Amino acid sequence: MRLKQIKLAGFKSFVDPTVVPFPQNLTAIVGPNGCGKSNLIDAVRWVMGESSAKHLRGDSMTDVIFNGSTARKPVGQASIELVFDNSEGKLVGEYAQYAEISVRRTVTRDGQSAYFLNGTKCRRKDITDIFLGTGLGPRSYAIIEQGMISRLIESKPAELRIFIEEAAGISKYKERRRETENR
Ligand code: ATP
Ligand code: MG
Repeated sequence: MRLKQIKLAGFKSFVDPTVVPFPQNLTAIVGPNGCGKSNLIDAVRWVMGESSAKHLRGDSMTDVIFNGSTARKPVGQASIELVFDNSEGKLVGEYAQYAEISVRRTVTRDGQSAYFLNGTKCRRKDITDIFLGTGLGPRSYAIIEQGMISRLIESKPAELRIFIEEAAGISKYKERRRETENR
């Protein structure tokens, strides 16, 4: 499964609707300091359900909304849509049949967050559920950030196990068992 494009609007420095395509052979995004490279990673993490403002380099969850500049007024809402190519049918379950999966999240200034899967409103959990076992989640290994390799090397066996279970595709079954036991 491949991330095909990100659509951003009102998110951090991306105030106007912007489409960032990811062609198949992309290896790097370069640009001057402050141009928004890390904001793109924050965008992916945010849509995947990141609920800690600190992990998005902010103080509160509404800090992801464009908060104005000398030339522009702040806006009232942030929206990000990730479009995945699922033509190889890597996702299991009801979404396996779609060649393209769109995942969208919006947030308004009053802190109301909404999630959408292929245009239909859903819960945060519906999104984390379908990506469990793919390596892409708000804290999963599809995104390797600064310091993460040394954290992995130094982690305790129990912490390391979480990553191995995700890579082996076991985490989604463990999550389901946990849910069933809590019912
Ligand atoms: P570097 O090369 O230094 O790592 P970068 O390309 O990764 O830079 P980012 O951290 O993605 O840069 O972007 C930082 C820019 O985003 C800053 O100019 C900051 O003012 C802007 N920014 C972050 N949050 C908001 C927000 N809520 N509203 C407006 N601008 C924002
Ligand atoms: Mg950066």
